[in-house]
Amino acid sequence: RKYGMNELREMYLSFFESKGHLRLPSFSLVPVNDPSILLINAGMTPLKPYFSGLEKPPSKRVTTCQKCIRTPDIENVGKTSRHGTFFEMLGNFSFGDYFKKEAIPWAWEFMTKVLEIPEERLFVSVYEEDDEAYDIWHKDVGLPHEKIFRFGKKDNFWEHGTGPCGPCSEIYFDRGPDKGCGKPDCTVGCDCDRFIEVWNNVFTQFDRQEDGSYVPLKNKNIDTGMGLERLACVMQGVDSIFEVDAIRAILDAVCAKAGVEYGKEYKKDVSIRVITDHARSVTMMVSDGILPSNEGRGYVLRRLLRRAARHGRLLGINELFMADIADKVIECFGDAYPNLKEKRDYIRKVISLEEERFYATIDQGTSILEEYLEQVKSNGSNMLTGEMVFKLHDTYGFPLDLTREIASEKGIAIDEEGFHKEMAKQKEKAREAHKSRVGSAWEKDLFEGTDKNIPTQFVGYTEYECDAEI
Ligand code: ATP
Ligand code: MG
Ligand code: MG
Ligand code: MG
Repeated sequence: RKYGMNELREMYLSFFESKGHLRLPSFSLVPVNDPSILLINAGMTPLKPYFSGLEKPPSKRVTTCQKCIRTPDIENVGKTSRHGTFFEMLGNFSFGDYFKKEAIPWAWEFMTKVLEIPEERLFVSVYEEDDEAYDIWHKDVGLPHEKIFRFGKKDNFWEHGTGPCGPCSEIYFDRGPDKGCGKPDCTVGCDCDRFIEVWNNVFTQFDRQEDGSYVPLKNKNIDTGMGLERLACVMQGVDSIFEVDAIRAILDAVCAKAGVEYGKEYKKDVSIRVITDHARSVTMMVSDGILPSNEGRGYVLRRLLRRAARHGRLLGINELFMADIADKVIECFGDAYPNLKEKRDYIRKVISLEEERFYATIDQGTSILEEYLEQVKSNGSNMLTGEMVFKLHDTYGFPLDLTREIASEKGIAIDEEGFHKEMAKQKEKAREAHKSRVGSAWEKDLFEGTDKNIPTQFVGYTEYECDAEI
């Protein structure tokens, strides 16, 4: 049995349909009326109004496969076997309907009966104080004590400021000792790639108050999320999410473009995986109407696209290539997400234009950087100043890590602290200018296409994350 991504997606959704759930299509990556997030990062986020009771759901039981973007995971991408900036999250949701007694046995039924995963490979965790979930796993499902791990708040309690929150229970798959870190205490919860977390079941049963107390909710909810890529990785017995059927096809297209073979050299493999992942993110973001810009979502898109293009250069690709990789994404995922096919030409165009812009700035920035390096050397220093690094970043769109890399080849370090100081100054200035010049042509240009509802603080956070890593 192949268990391709398309098949697994369908198996999951139809399983929960058989349990009375209404299947909804994925929501856009762009959140609606939710200034707290830039991009949809979980199956539950577009459903928040149903959980909070603000809106009436079309059904009390819903199942989806949701497109997600998680930029905070960017550092892991290509390095762990299980993280992408883009992934699809399978989920089943109860809005004040069924609760733990149904959700837990159904999750087990899907894993062991429908997918026939051998029970000995599966482990679960519960929140340390959640005896109810523990007992369901132990007594109703029949899991022995040594298979149920009690973890603390950090891992097994889901909350986000005030509002609906609660404990969660996660399902892990043991990929075997050869996939692990080999440490003697390696077990469920270890951050290595052996016990891979596949499914999180969240039991939203409390309403967290301003004063930090937890009031039980009248309507208890279920919110679950399983990464389709991780499930496919486990079912196909491959090394990483980059090797599951449809994603491997994209990876192979990257290798063909670069004329390199996968699995020969670690550094090259990381670049190949980064491009593969970012090509998915970028294609999906553009298909949802996001355009490259210097703010908010557009900035995330710009950074991902430029990062992929740069890794392309590292692999020796010296021409525009991302649109062709996007084509492969469309080919592989166009049936599951029909708007990809409808917007194919548009997606190609947006991607190529941005990639072209990037190459132009890179070429310009390279000669400026060469000048700076000469300057620094003739001053008898061995460090580029924060101002220089910032100027390269700000005026020439030159990513920090590229500056670092090229400088270090010449034996020169960079003042990263100084860079971040300049960055903070710039943000403060932009904020001030934004306040005082609303409506001017300058403002319109700089903040074009931005969502004024996004709190500045949050945008800063996301930008910083991208700046730090890309
Ligand atoms: P991890 O600890 O591995 O980073 P997580 O605890 O952050 O995962 P959750 O927020 O619980 O993940 O999301 C639910 C599920 O979504 C996870 O169990 C996993 O299968 C999947 N998932 C989460 N982050 C990613 C990612 N970056 N790439 C692919 N799948 C992911
Ligand atoms: Mg995570
Ligand atoms: Mg986790
Ligand atoms: Mg989790």
